[in-house]
Amino acid sequence: MADVKKVIEIIDKIIADVDEQKLFLTELDNVIGDGDHGINLARGFDAVKTIEDTFESKDIGAILKAIGMKLVSTVGGASGPLYGTAFMKSGALLNGKTEMDMNDFIEMLQVSIDGIMKRGKAVKGEKTMLDAMIPAHDAIKASYEADGDAKKALDAGVKAAEEGIEYTKTIIATKGRASYLGERSIGHQDPGATSFTLMLKAVQELA
Ligand code: ADP
Ligand code: MG
Ligand code: MG
Repeated sequence: MADVKKVIEIIDKIIADVDEQKLFLTELDNVIGDGDHGINLARGFDAVKTIEDTFESKDIGAILKAIGMKLVSTVGGASGPLYGTAFMKSGALLNGKTEMDMNDFIEMLQVSIDGIMKRGKAVKGEKTMLDAMIPAHDAIKASYEADGDAKKALDAGVKAAEEGIEYTKTIIATKGRASYLGERSIGHQDPGATSFTLMLKAVQELA
């Protein structure tokens, strides 16, 4: 699926895409939060860019761990510690590896979900990034186990994540700032579910 070079390419694309989607993500957060999700993530991934030149000499686990630590220390806001935890857990999982396969990626999504659930004390259906992450993980796992086709599995994962975004429009936020809106959060998509889908799309396109 990916060696160190490929992982760096994917990270590069995520940095560029977060920057490009910064205003859109922030607009989404303006409606149900405090209007900083895009700015927060762009600040974090800009900081990741400054350590990118150290990645070539690292294994995949060390790269992901370094990204997680950067995100935790620079993002601020709920998404920083949550995405930071996801990358750090992924880094611990892939410690020492210079190649990763689809099973590693599926496991990586699982430890990320577990880490975010524990840290944010959230479950599925609370209008958060988890509502894109959990269906994406489940779809990728089911598809890959069915026929071992990585590309097909990633396509299924992106489709499930996009459906997850749509699902967040239909539910009330019960975690994070959007929960202050109660019923008024219905009809609007969750910024975090949207940013996760952006990251997964980078994997789908390049892995
Ligand atoms: P803040 O809300 O602190 O301004 P951001 O705007 O960067 O932080 O991130 C908001 C996103 O974080 C939400 O759209 C949601 O997906 C996610 N989020 C917030 N709280 C939680 C939580 N407890 N568990 C999981 N995800 C959460
Ligand atoms: Mg916000
Ligand atoms: Mg904020």
